[in-house]
Amino acid sequence: MHEMSIIESMLAALGKHFQGRLPGAPRRVVVQVGRFVQVNETALREAFSAATEGKPWGEADLQVEAVDPTVLCKDCKAECAYPASRCSKCGSVNLEVRGGFEFIVKEVAFEVEDSCQARS
Ligand SMILES: [Zn+2]
Repeated sequence: MHEMSIIESMLAALGKHFQGRLPGAPRRVVVQVGRFVQVNETALREAFSAATEGKPWGEADLQVEAVDPTVLCKDCKAECAYPASRCSKCGSVNLEVRGGFEFIVKEVAFEVEDSCQARS
């Protein structure tokens, strides 16, 4: 499953980033996924649940944001909304689609225990 390999890569990257020292209990992971990345959001969530079951990240809620690519006009350098067949500014057809293939971890939220609390 394609989604599972994406999740495993993401968890490996997060593990490397935090080096096993999480600042608290993970509560939310927000990822941005380009429109051209062929992932199914439901499958991505299921893969995340399966891969993190019984682990600290299993407590986190995975939020997926779709990211649209942009269309750059190579003549006037205007950025147009995707999809576009002509530049909205100068009408040129000399266009280049940029982005849409990204998979970015945008935000990770933790619940940090109050260190002032009395411990029993
Ligand atoms: Zn243009």
